[in-house]
Amino acid sequence: MEPVDAERARQLSLFRPLGYQRNSCGYCKSDDGSASYYTSSVAVRPEHYGILVDQGWRRSGTLYYKQNLRRSCCPHYTLRLEATAYQSRRDQRKAINRWNKFVLGPEYIRKAARLCPRSREEKKFRKCNFDLLSSVHESEYSHVKRPIDPSTKRALEPAHRFEVNIEADSPSQAKYELFLKYQTTIHKEDLSRWKLKDFSRFLCSGIKRSPATVTKSNESEKKLGSWHQCYRLDGKLIAVAVLDLLPSGVSSVYVFYDPEYEEWEFGKLSALREIAFAQENGYPYYYMGYYIHNCQKMRYKGNFKPQYILDPKSNTWDPLDGELSQKLDTRPYVSLSRDRSSKDGESAPEEPIDGTNEEALSLFKIDMPGVLTLDQVNALNLGNWNLLYHGAFVHFNDLVGWEKMKYDNPQSVKGIVGELAAVLGPDIVKDSAVVLFD
Ligand SMILES: [Zn+2]
Repeated sequence: MEPVDAERARQLSLFRPLGYQRNSCGYCKSDDGSASYYTSSVAVRPEHYGILVDQGWRRSGTLYYKQNLRRSCCPHYTLRLEATAYQSRRDQRKAINRWNKFVLGPEYIRKAARLCPRSREEKKFRKCNFDLLSSVHESEYSHVKRPIDPSTKRALEPAHRFEVNIEADSPSQAKYELFLKYQTTIHKEDLSRWKLKDFSRFLCSGIKRSPATVTKSNESEKKLGSWHQCYRLDGKLIAVAVLDLLPSGVSSVYVFYDPEYEEWEFGKLSALREIAFAQENGYPYYYMGYYIHNCQKMRYKGNFKPQYILDPKSNTWDPLDGELSQKLDTRPYVSLSRDRSSKDGESAPEEPIDGTNEEALSLFKIDMPGVLTLDQVNALNLGNWNLLYHGAFVHFNDLVGWEKMKYDNPQSVKGIVGELAAVLGPDIVKDSAVVLFD
């Protein structure tokens, strides 16, 4: 690993290891059904987070985690859709057409049909085809045609002024109030659960943005990092989609909207807009977050096709439909790569989950899928890994006793660092530093 000067330091992601923990499951409500490896960071580079997402990681604010799917009651599978391959479904087309009709209003639609009529070919094309990009933009104010209405001598105006902008992921009173309204109405949460600082930590402390702010001169520059896509109707904020923009794709973090607009299906509308955003701006994939097969509320994600699922063991991608989906109907943990490598094409059923003492064991003994083995970590030569210690970079070799410590002793510094390296993988280790002791 190269020595760390100021320029090099800017290219590093920093990770503070928190370790492997069992936690309650938010889906089936079991007390300790879910097991994940956790790390926190205030500095992850978008390209590094992209690599982590493709290995099953997600973030919640500055907390990053990778679930052990083999040892969790409701395995969280990572989903990915190739943006340009997206094929719309009837209900998705209907949702966007309904919204456009509402925004434009019957009077506008009637008069516009007369003042700027569509050609016969155009009408025929629209009838038989669905164009995602034009549908998504159709009712945005900057795209709405406003011919002069001869009866009023004024520009023809739509019923509502609808605007969508991509903005910094910074907190504001309007976003916070909208979020509270959404959480308490849609998720029936208690108002006291979310103070402004909790909201900010959850949805406004993402990955560093580039460019830091959008100006006229850098408008067309490719954006990376964490952003808020803000929807405004007649000047009022009605929805916010929190997005991580990565070189590999657009990752949807969260979406919250005014419950008064629930009937318009903002879950669908925002997903369509994000797929369109990925297509227009050259992000190859669209990530809808985790997918839990036995959770009915998440089934809609599988309706955005063609959807692929990350194999927990090999970190390769399989179509969600067909074989995988059928297997998920019968057991919660499926790794097609594991099934294929076993003789009869079917893996032995998982042992029942017994969380006792699992947290005290070395990660190398837990057999967590998709992480490096002890031998692989040994080969990484972590003595040269950067350690950020009281504001200065040193190497682990510089620590007294490092050579004598063992990676499979989870209580030692070497054990803690070895587990972090095993879950992050070699590409991230090479361009990162560990934060410890302070
Ligand atoms: Zn569960």
